[in-house]
Amino acid sequence: MFDVAFEKIALIGIGLIGSSLARVIRSKNLADHISIATHSENTLNEARELGLGDSYTTINSEAVKDADLIIISVPVGASGAVARDIARCLKKGAIVTDVGSVKASVIAQMQPELPHDIHFIPGHPIAGTEYSGPSAGFATLFVNRWCILTPLPGTDQEMLKRLSAFWIACGSKIDHLDPEYHDLVLAIISHVPHIIAYNIIGTARDFEKVNNSRVLAYSASGFCDFTRLASSDPTMWRDVCLYNRDAILEMLGRFGEDLALLQSAIRGGDGDALFDLFTRARIIRRSIVESEQDISVP
Ligand code: NAP
Repeated sequence: MFDVAFEKIALIGIGLIGSSLARVIRSKNLADHISIATHSENTLNEARELGLGDSYTTINSEAVKDADLIIISVPVGASGAVARDIARCLKKGAIVTDVGSVKASVIAQMQPELPHDIHFIPGHPIAGTEYSGPSAGFATLFVNRWCILTPLPGTDQEMLKRLSAFWIACGSKIDHLDPEYHDLVLAIISHVPHIIAYNIIGTARDFEKVNNSRVLAYSASGFCDFTRLASSDPTMWRDVCLYNRDAILEMLGRFGEDLALLQSAIRGGDGDALFDLFTRARIIRRSIVESEQDISVP
């Protein structure tokens, strides 16, 4: 059996993901010491009041001293700056990982900054909510959720097993993907849906303004689902769009082509085409519920 516990884990960023990690690490005894670093004093104080760690700092390099595992949970655009901050203070042989929703760009930002005597293994737990900050986290966030690792060529297999064992102890299921493929997959299953949500709300709001009438007040369940998605953290989603640009544009292109076909079926009164599409979508929804990636109730 692999030893999943670490002597010291450093968490850089203590928002939804970082604070969920702090909680599960504590509840499952996965580290003797949790050090926490975040950008602002306010967030640090919140983390301290919640008792999420054993030591607290706003200096990233201070948090990583003597740490065996460093988990970076910051908006993807800050990854390079964090890697630069910590590079010179990392313990030889430590594992450095991240949770960013984008992989190729995070690797491009971080890898050149990090020393060669540590193990950099990028990752992405596909688990989240629309809330952010230290209070938003919870220990069961990762249970039965995939954690995608995107190991780089030459990755030490023992260290990969150790990091996998850590995520499994947090409740996750592990898979490995190539970073570029990860970014394409996430573009269609997560990034484009959020962009559509942000866009549809903008369209509804403009329609309301132009018509000077109540539109949003009548929001029904479909629209409400979009508003939930669109209430996610603007910094995180700005960065996802900026740092996964090519994959998102590729998937938006495909989406646009399919939307044009749907539009044409509606215009042409092609009920069979609409029925087929909606039936296929319903089957996919059922398979997602059956595989426990979502629940059947709203
Ligand atoms: P969050 O709740 O907004 O928290 C972000 C944290 O990063 C805050 O503690 C923030 O500090 C800190 N931070 C920002 N810049 C920093 C810097 N230069 N140095 C140190 N700390 C810094 O965000 P989150 O939802 O946890 O997301 C974190 C990462 O997880 C993102 O890369 C995101 O793509 C990924 N992710 C998110 C989800 C999701 O559903 N939310 C799911 C999977 C993966 P201050 O508050 O002090 O400014």
